Amino acid sequence: MPPPLEEDIHLPDANFYTDNDDLKFHMEKMVEWQPIVELKEGIGADSTYESVEEAVQTYLELLEDPVGSLAAERIAPRAEAVDREGCRCVDGQVILPEPTKLNLKDLIEADLMGMTLPVEFGGLNLPSTIYTAATEIISRADGSLMNFFGLQGIGETINLFASDELRDKYLPGFCSGDFTGAMVLTEPDAGSDLTAIQTRAVFEENHNHFHITGTKRFITNGCGEVLLVLARSEDPGKYSGGRGLSLFVVEKDESVSVRRIEEKLGIHGSPTCEIYFNSTPAVLVGQRGRGLTRYINWLMNAARVGVAAQAVGIAQAAFREATQYAEQREQFGQAIAKFPAVQDMLVRMRIKIESARSLLYATTQAVDLEMLLTEKLESERTRNAAEPQSKELRSRRDRYGKVADVLTPLCKYYAAEECIAITSDAVQVHGGNGYMKDYPVERLYRDARITSIYEGTSQLQIDRVIPKILTGAIDAATEAMSGKDYGDDELNHLRDTVNESRAALGAAVSFVNQQTVTNPETSLQEKDTQYRNLVARMISDIAVDVYVSYLFIAQAQRSQRKRLVAAKFIRDMSARVEMNRRQIMTGDRSVIDHFDALVSGSN
Ligand SMILES: Cc1cc2nc3c(=O)[nH]c(=O)nc-3n(C[C@H](O)[C@H](O)[C@H](O)COP(=O)(O)OP(=O)(O)OC[C@H]3O[C@@H](n4cnc5c(N)ncnc54)[C@H](O)[C@@H]3O)c2cc1C
Repeated sequence: MPPPLEEDIHLPDANFYTDNDDLKFHMEKMVEWQPIVELKEGIGADSTYESVEEAVQTYLELLEDPVGSLAAERIAPRAEAVDREGCRCVDGQVILPEPTKLNLKDLIEADLMGMTLPVEFGGLNLPSTIYTAATEIISRADGSLMNFFGLQGIGETINLFASDELRDKYLPGFCSGDFTGAMVLTEPDAGSDLTAIQTRAVFEENHNHFHITGTKRFITNGCGEVLLVLARSEDPGKYSGGRGLSLFVVEKDESVSVRRIEEKLGIHGSPTCEIYFNSTPAVLVGQRGRGLTRYINWLMNAARVGVAAQAVGIAQAAFREATQYAEQREQFGQAIAKFPAVQDMLVRMRIKIESARSLLYATTQAVDLEMLLTEKLESERTRNAAEPQSKELRSRRDRYGKVADVLTPLCKYYAAEECIAITSDAVQVHGGNGYMKDYPVERLYRDARITSIYEGTSQLQIDRVIPKILTGAIDAATEAMSGKDYGDDELNHLRDTVNESRAALGAAVSFVNQQTVTNPETSLQEKDTQYRNLVARMISDIAVDVYVSYLFIAQAQRSQRKRLVAAKFIRDMSARVEMNRRQIMTGDRSVIDHFDALVSGSN
């Protein structure tokens, strides 16, 4: 019998914000709202709010209601039905599951579809930190729904980079929910390497606009009304790779056909489309040739934060299921939650969620401040403000920019990988029942798996962040935290332990930087970039471990429970870091040197 769909499955007292003490802890005690709110709201005479506190209270009330209540009362109870029904494609028309349609209607009615867009277009003008918390909450209720909710970045990209005309034309529709969008990049031969994109955009002098022709695949919500398409607009002979790509807005019409939708492992409520553009009219966003390097780079970074939030939300749902089950299920005459081996799994799950969440909101704060300071600088420039003031703003902006640059890929990588591990452990805690459709954890396990693939695979996140770590980005970002007095011996002792791991990162980094190989053609010594690629994951793991440890110490200053969490995390972390450092510093290249023999040789 299909599960119930409608309002009779309300859980009226449930709330996915108020029941999540760790998320609340971050929002209420850890996020440094003052600079974000002052820049965002310009508190004072013309502001909607009289004080920072009033603004923050309004933000957090929104997380409670409508976001937390909607997620718990309506969206979560429909998740199983969404997964079972899935999306269909009939004669080129994509049909969403009925409960997904209800979810979208609820989100629109609650006015949650233009969260970060300006008020003048009907948006809520909220900081990225709040939008991310909302994304985490919605994803906990239904991971697949996030793929609609999280596509608000399409509107944001138009807002930031498109002309006033395009903003006026599309943004009100994004805010009202009349338009949904898609980010149209991937092609059969251009996945991780987007510089290989072949879809062509040809400028038609007569019509003063471009026409796009080509095939895109794996496009989330490719059936949406407004598509942001990356296409090759420049002569490949003159501008090869990414420099020849531009970004376009395309309105869905008869020249755009959805050829099929994919049958997938998870996120069944989200349609993944193959699209064919047949000389489709398209309008340029921003400047030619900057599509990938500037605009899509920005959009993908925003989307990476969104996927990290999706991962934390799915992991939170799985952890809840696992703890409830472990308390109820009895074996050998007692609840399985009493067995230390099960307790260990549950504690690790929770601490992993807390570490991913810590990294997530450290990232969003840096993202918010970089963006807001850039806006402020822009307005100072137009007002011809005094140079010393702008210099100060620029240096602050650049500092946050560097932190955001290094934390965004790390947080996407870490949250996704931990989400996969946590949902796998949640299945394990359920034993045989975990493998069955009767319990939600198998769905959560399937939904989790996408998070390390889209918006750039884990390997690509690492590839992106590793040059920064090898040139000292983590060292710079943790310098203040490593020298801080945390106010008591216990926390300062933890800090000293983390400082040792920070030094271990430094040792591993200089070891890798010093590795050289002989170039067989020139016989000269060159940097061993292959070894760097080989150990990049371990270096990134150390970087996350060190960064998160400092975040936990700061949290321990504000919560007794977090003292326990910090001590536990740092004890485990220090052993992990030492293991990774030792492995990196063996200089073992056997994977590279003997790849064929190790992978496919016979004995
Ligand atoms: C459900 C779903 C939804 C999606 N939604 C969208 C969307 O809305 N819009 C869109 O444009 N795309 C979307 N994608 C595409 C997605 O972003 C790509 O699948 C992803 O970037 C990987 O590309 P690929 O599948 O071609 O894998 P490949 O690039 O072929 O990678 C295969 C493997 O090789 C590894 N690899 C590749 N290059 C390197 C390297 N340099 N170093 C180390 N390892 C490497 C990868 O990590 C991976 O393990 C979606 C995909 C899925 C599955």
